[in-house]
Amino acid sequence: SAFAYAPAPESRSVVDLAPSYGLFIDGEFAEGTGGGLRKTVSPATEEVLAEYTQGTAEDVDRAVQAARRAFEKWSALPGAERAKYLFRIARIIQERSRELAVLETLDNGKPIREARDADLPLVAAHFFYYAGWADKLGHAGFGPDPRPLGVAGQVIPWNFPLLMLAWKVAPALACGNTVVLKPAETTPLSALFFADICRQAGLPKGVVNIVTGDGSTGASLVAHPGIDKVAFTGSTEVGKAIARTVAGTDKKLTLELGGKAANIVFDDAPIDQAVEGIVNGIFFNQGHVCCAGSRLLVQESIQDELLDALKRRMATLRVGDPLDKNTDIGAINSAEQLARITELAAAGEAEGAERWSPSCELPGAGYWFAPTLFTGVTQAHRIAREEVFGPVLSVLTFRTPQEAVAKANNTPYGLSAGIWTEKGSRMLWMANQLRAGVIWSNTFNKFDPASPFGGYKESGFGREGGRHGLEAYLNV
Ligand code: NAD
Repeated sequence: SAFAYAPAPESRSVVDLAPSYGLFIDGEFAEGTGGGLRKTVSPATEEVLAEYTQGTAEDVDRAVQAARRAFEKWSALPGAERAKYLFRIARIIQERSRELAVLETLDNGKPIREARDADLPLVAAHFFYYAGWADKLGHAGFGPDPRPLGVAGQVIPWNFPLLMLAWKVAPALACGNTVVLKPAETTPLSALFFADICRQAGLPKGVVNIVTGDGSTGASLVAHPGIDKVAFTGSTEVGKAIARTVAGTDKKLTLELGGKAANIVFDDAPIDQAVEGIVNGIFFNQGHVCCAGSRLLVQESIQDELLDALKRRMATLRVGDPLDKNTDIGAINSAEQLARITELAAAGEAEGAERWSPSCELPGAGYWFAPTLFTGVTQAHRIAREEVFGPVLSVLTFRTPQEAVAKANNTPYGLSAGIWTEKGSRMLWMANQLRAGVIWSNTFNKFDPASPFGGYKESGFGREGGRHGLEAYLNV
């Protein structure tokens, strides 16, 4: 294995990185065909972690051919046999979760506590969950013998590299499809580690193929005539470009795109619990979360009390070394993302909103952004309309539930929302009015593999997770 195990917890030495990585095609790590190597850096230190391969259109073609060959046998296996492989992968992920958590933290910049306690358990859970479906597809309301689509081309972002892979690979394989996956350019390492896990699990060659590279690699994959299904998670802009590429072909498409979720707090909400949910909603994973609660809608009568409590809580957040178990907010994933967050925050100030951050010392090297609160935000402000994808919270107020609904829905996005109230009837009424795929009640950012996830409007279409997640990979 390229990833030797060394048992020192939560330190860099847990993973032994090779200087450079090839592509995973047809069960083997292979050199690319002329795209050269790219570097992936730790966003916390700017140190180069490793080099990896820039996949070319020719590499994508080799991977798709391998997946096509593998499809014949893989799709013909009884579901119970495919399930065994998925259970095995899930178990290996659990066994190697320390390595994987450290690797994810190094490459992404997220706090190790989150990688260890959120990302990795959910990754394993997704494989366990879809392993359980593999032999029950004929009993899931899809008819007696639903068929897989063929080869899935999957393109994922950098915010939850391994979890986004799990959301895509686990249901695809359970249904009998084979895959070619393109991880994001700033976070390729955990997908390559996963390739190693596929080998360890004895997965037949060609069932999973990993082609690293930038957007052009993703574009080659999406356009390849040999794939039957495109699954994309990323920005709305790239999602629209992919939809144009796929239009006019017979490929099936699911898109999981951006968000601008409202976290709505009524005057009867338990304030301390709501503050925890607001903090988790926007500062989890540095706010690099498509369903982040980036617009706080607070009922006017409790605005002062809530904001005081929120500021006190924000002042306790620790920003810094992602490998430190006490860190709450890690590094921003890339210089480009930091520039985008900085630009949008500056626009917030320029447009007249009031900016506040607790005093906190940011490390020298690396990419950092202090947790930031904007008050006095109006719906016209860019920080109220555009996805920041960083630790920046915009506060708006409302007086009535109707006004809260109108403001919450006043966005081109529709991925998620949170409602904080002790009144069950109001919560249900609100949930039915909000145009968002996921509604949390008195909590936020809770995930479960059995629960479908996906958007309305420009947040995309199709669902991942749950029984509905199978529909994206089956001919019913
Ligand atoms: P991005 O769209 O820039 O990149 C996503 C992936 O697409 C990367 O692997 C990239 O290399 C690839 N890509 C870029 N151009 C491409 C093209 N023309 N054709 C094919 N592939 C191409 O997004 P990002 O900056 O990596 O991720 C952040 C975005 O992802 C945010 O908008 C966030 O809301 C969204 N996101 C959504 C969900 C969801 O489930 N809805 C989950 C996570 C992230």
